[in-house]
Amino acid sequence: MTVVGVLGAGQLGRMLALAGYPLGLRFAFLDENAEAPAGHLGDLTVASWNDHAALDAFANTVDLVTYEFENVPVAAAERLAMRVPVFPPPRALDVAQDRLKEKTLFRDLEIGTTTFATVDTREDLDRAVAVIGLPAVLKTRMQGYDGKGQRVLRRSDDLDPAFAAIGGPPLLLEAFVPFERELSIIAARSRTGETAYWPLVENVHRDGILRLSIAPAFDADGAVVDAAVAIAAKTLEALDYVGVLAIELFQHEGRLLANEMAPRVHNSGHWTIEGAKTSQFENHLRAVLGFPLGATEAIGLSAMVNLIGETPDSAALLGIDGAHLHLYGKPARPGRKLGHVTLVEPGREALGSAIAQVATLVAEPTLRR
Ligand code: AMP
Repeated sequence: MTVVGVLGAGQLGRMLALAGYPLGLRFAFLDENAEAPAGHLGDLTVASWNDHAALDAFANTVDLVTYEFENVPVAAAERLAMRVPVFPPPRALDVAQDRLKEKTLFRDLEIGTTTFATVDTREDLDRAVAVIGLPAVLKTRMQGYDGKGQRVLRRSDDLDPAFAAIGGPPLLLEAFVPFERELSIIAARSRTGETAYWPLVENVHRDGILRLSIAPAFDADGAVVDAAVAIAAKTLEALDYVGVLAIELFQHEGRLLANEMAPRVHNSGHWTIEGAKTSQFENHLRAVLGFPLGATEAIGLSAMVNLIGETPDSAALLGIDGAHLHLYGKPARPGRKLGHVTLVEPGREALGSAIAQVATLVAEPTLRR
């Protein structure tokens, strides 16, 4: 029986395992946190990413390694790669962990991205603002997620407090993009080189955290879809990528600008579990195992609502016709992703009324659109 080793044992690992069991796969996870929720679905090794003996022992129990957490130290992935195949390639992890490397890759591939400049000192910030202008977004280059480690600068008075609050360098300053909307493209590339792309997803964030995804994105014309697919195709190719890759995009004045990429299955792809012919989780496994990829067409119109900070009563949510509830088995904490609900309907009107029903149970202003 094939054992898939997964670095990280959060909800993404949990959903990978749920997709892999029907394929007869077994899972082993490695995480620093003994309470990590994928531990309910496979063997969980609790160890530091720097524990060489634990990494070597883990490699001996698995047939290949993938990740569900993008801040796994690259050295850990490289150490494992000396013993077992590791997909996506550790280079993708390296690029995705540093906003400078990520944006430089996009620029080298002639993929549109916002203007950016590195900032290491308070003086650098003045120089960068002089070039980029305001408003701008100051971000930590590493370890930022869900809106953590970033500050919007609107006036020159914002510079001192933002620089003091954000923590040490290395930082990146980006021009603020007054986008019409945020989109993402989820793509897969198999060990055989076969590629697949799901329909474009529209994403609504609040406080830097994804709240709602709609797929296929409303009113995305062929040119926008083609542009997003071209961005993903170039990135997959450049990284000799294997697995699922997500790229977050801003739609602005008829153009797509790449904001960031995730070298793993992605929150904006959760709708694919019920809303596409093959889910991102199953295709990730197919890709890393070298199987043919499954069809990525949408089955209807889907909405995915994140449950953040608290979870409404399950019985009430399940009382909504067609609501698919996913709870991750994590203790509640403000700002934490605890689960999601997916709705799949044949048309916009039915989807709108299903979202309105969920909105009565989930205190989330972005649902009232
Ligand atoms: P990120 O961590 O880069 O994904 O940023 C989180 C969210 O902040 C994004 O989804 C956007 O809503 C917003 N954001 C990030 N960068 C910019 C930017 N340069 N201009 C406007 N909004 C941004």
